[in-house]
Amino acid sequence: MNNISIIGKSCCGCTGCEQACPKGCISFSPDSEGFFYPAVDESRCINCGVCLKKCPVHTDVPSGTNPQVFAAKIKDTQTAFKSTSGGVFTELAKYALKKGGIVYGCAFDENLVAKHIAVEKESELFKLQSSKYVQSDLSGIYSDVKAKLNEGRTVLFSGTGCQAAGLRAFLGKDYDNLIVTDIVCHGVPSPLLFKKYLEYKGGTLGGKITAYNFRSKEKRGWDLYYKAETENKSKSDYGFFDPYYSAFLKCQTYRESCYECKFANSRRTGDLTLADFWGIQKFHPRFYDKNGVSLILVNTEKGKMLWEELVPKIESIPSSLDKAVVMNKNLSAPSARPECRSGIYDGIDGDLNTYFTTKLAFKVDPKVKLKKMLPPGLKDAVRKIKS
Ligand SMILES: Cc1cc2nc3c(=O)[nH]c(=O)nc-3n(C[C@H](O)[C@H](O)[C@H](O)COP(=O)(O)OP(=O)(O)OC[C@H]3O[C@@H](n4cnc5c(N)ncnc54)[C@H](O)[C@@H]3O)c2cc1C
Repeated sequence: MNNISIIGKSCCGCTGCEQACPKGCISFSPDSEGFFYPAVDESRCINCGVCLKKCPVHTDVPSGTNPQVFAAKIKDTQTAFKSTSGGVFTELAKYALKKGGIVYGCAFDENLVAKHIAVEKESELFKLQSSKYVQSDLSGIYSDVKAKLNEGRTVLFSGTGCQAAGLRAFLGKDYDNLIVTDIVCHGVPSPLLFKKYLEYKGGTLGGKITAYNFRSKEKRGWDLYYKAETENKSKSDYGFFDPYYSAFLKCQTYRESCYECKFANSRRTGDLTLADFWGIQKFHPRFYDKNGVSLILVNTEKGKMLWEELVPKIESIPSSLDKAVVMNKNLSAPSARPECRSGIYDGIDGDLNTYFTTKLAFKVDPKVKLKKMLPPGLKDAVRKIKS
């Protein structure tokens, strides 16, 4: 067997092999958990091995070493408020668009399915803002990126470590007009689980969920609060008090390949790496901002040039990898696979109420509950006095 089938459950689902296959004989379909895996039509496969050559799990892709590390936040506080962390992604995207470029990133479609899309107008960048904690569909995206690069367009691609590596492997070479950013990622649940969750959550709110934000800052600023909306109602709460979100945060529902992720380290494939600067209160308390602070890794020479271009739009201070890794463990290792992962998807096709209240049951720690009831401003005031 000389094709992508040998990758098995190590497959990260980037779909690069499907897009690269010269015979078009690879297609992705969901397994029982709802994660997409490739299947090869053996009758048409010519065993050329292109699929394996383009697979980021099978092939080594170039990555940066010894990144420069910064804590950063953009000056445009309205944009930062709608972003996950300090909003650096949007400033970078605006820079690419001003050069006549095109930006690829993850958006929810009208059914709240996470998909990578291309954005060419600044007014549509909001679609890419904010993290969607579910695996994004990349079908056709790498081919589209390649076509745009060959037309001479500036392209900014943003994705998880495996998605960024998948693009590098697919292209097989760097392009002067390509900017790659990757995000620090601890793992992705399946699109099926998120779909079922939205049905369940809609049931608890008495209507169809029409909008969902995993990182809403409306209630308590930069924290792990979701906001789910139906036509008539909305609900915002702390992620650890929600079945889907708490299972995500506890690493219980990830794609199997996430637990062996070879991109969960500080040798990044993006020119720049974006993340939340967790631990900023401890390491750089004066730089803390309730609107969010980004952690930035500048990994390549191109990344350095881009970072300089962003200077007028951003406030930043130098930091170090040692500090960044303390609270961002996936900069040094993949998430650990908990024992409960094995059966966590069992019952997903059954009664949703039963599934989400038993299989994904969560316990609310009364101390955390109390902490989350205190006004957020109070914590900031104490922090300022301490620093
Ligand atoms: C699944 C996942 C896990 C993450 N885990 C961590 C973590 O452990 N630690 C940490 O510090 N940061 C993590 N992040 C990254 C962090 O949440 C922010 O995405 C990052 O800090 C950028 O924030 P921003 O304010 O600059 O941009 P934002 O405006 O919030 O931009 C979001 C960016 O993320 C991309 N994106 C959103 N959802 C997805 C998705 N499902 N797949 C691929 N790309 C997506 C968008 O394309 C856009 O480029 C994770 C993000 C995701 C999607």
